[in-house]
Amino acid sequence: MTLETLNEKLLSLGAKPQHIQRLYRAMMGIVAWPSENDLAFPKKVRDALADLRNELNQVLTVVAKDEGEEGASLKLLFRLTDGHTIESVLLPREGVCVSTQVGCAVGCVFCMTGQSGLIRQLTDLEIVAQVMHARKLRPETRKVVFMGMGEPSHNLKNVMRAIDFLGRYSQIPHKNLVLSTVGDQRVFDALAASEVKPALAISLHSTIEDKRRKLLPRAGKIAIESLIDQAEQYARQTGYPIQYQWTLIKGVNDGDDELESIAGLLKGKYALMNFIPVNTVENRTFERPEWSRCQEMADYLKRVRVLAKFRHSAAQDVEGGCGQLRSRYSQEKEG
Ligand code: SF4
Repeated sequence: MTLETLNEKLLSLGAKPQHIQRLYRAMMGIVAWPSENDLAFPKKVRDALADLRNELNQVLTVVAKDEGEEGASLKLLFRLTDGHTIESVLLPREGVCVSTQVGCAVGCVFCMTGQSGLIRQLTDLEIVAQVMHARKLRPETRKVVFMGMGEPSHNLKNVMRAIDFLGRYSQIPHKNLVLSTVGDQRVFDALAASEVKPALAISLHSTIEDKRRKLLPRAGKIAIESLIDQAEQYARQTGYPIQYQWTLIKGVNDGDDELESIAGLLKGKYALMNFIPVNTVENRTFERPEWSRCQEMADYLKRVRVLAKFRHSAAQDVEGGCGQLRSRYSQEKEG
C-alpha cells in the first residue's frame, strides 16, 4: 500500500475529503481512530475500518530495539512486508530520525548502510509509518529528520510525498520536518515546487571537492559552492537556517585547511555547522579527533563568526551510526 493507493481505496468506499482527513489525522495520533459505529462515516468505510487499521499496522513490524542511556534515545529495527529491514531512531527532545531507503547508493566510507549499496526504495507510506510508530511510543514526537538509512534525493518523489502528508496531517511544524541530503539539484527543484517547506540539512563532510568525492563516492555532482549558494537562498526564503552536517574523522577532515575553507564558504550565511565525531564502523579504522582538537576548531569558528556545534552522535550510545543495528541483527540471524 502507498499513500496514493490508500487514498484511492478510501475514495472507492465513498469517503469524502473530511472523512479522509480525519483518518489521516488518526494515523498520526492527532485524533482517535474512529469506531465502526461512528455514523459520521459512510457504512462502507465503517465496515472497512478494522481491516484498514490492521493493514496499516502491518506496514512495519518492530523486530529489535536498542535503548540509549537513561532512555533518551531508542533505536528501532523494523521488518518490512517483503522481509527487508530498516532503522529509525527516537531521539532526545521529541524527534525521530527516519530511513528513506533500504541500503544506500552513496557509499559514504564512514557509514555502515553505505557499505551494502541500494537494496530498494521505501514507499511514502513506509516512511510515514515510521513516524506513526514513533507517535505510538512517544506521542509528544514533533520533529522528523530524514537522516536515517538512505539518501532522500535518491527517493525524492516518495520522500516529498511523505513530507507533504506529515506537513498536512501530523501537526508537526514544517520547520521541524528536516530533509537531509548530500546535495542534488533535484532537491532544490522539488523544494521550490513543494507547498510544505521542510527545513534543509546538508551532509557536507568536506569542503574540498576531491576529498569529498572520496568520502561520499556517489553523491550528486553538484559543486560545493553552488550547493551552498542554493541552500542559502532556500534558508533566506523559508526563514530556517541550513543545518550542515560534518562527520569528524581524525586526520581526514579536521585540519586547518578545512577550517579556513569552511570560514570562507559559511561566514555570514544563515547556517549552523554540526560536527559529529565519527562512529566506529566495522572493518574501518576511523578515529575521532581528541576533544581538545574539537575545542580548537570551535574557538576558530567562533572567531570567524561561523555558528558551529560539536556533539556526540545522539545514536552513539545505541550502537553507533545508522545501519549498525540492522547489520548486527542480520549477522545474528545468519549465525
Ligand atoms: Fe547513504 Fe547517508 Fe550512509 Fe552516506 S551517510 S551512505 S548518504 S545513508
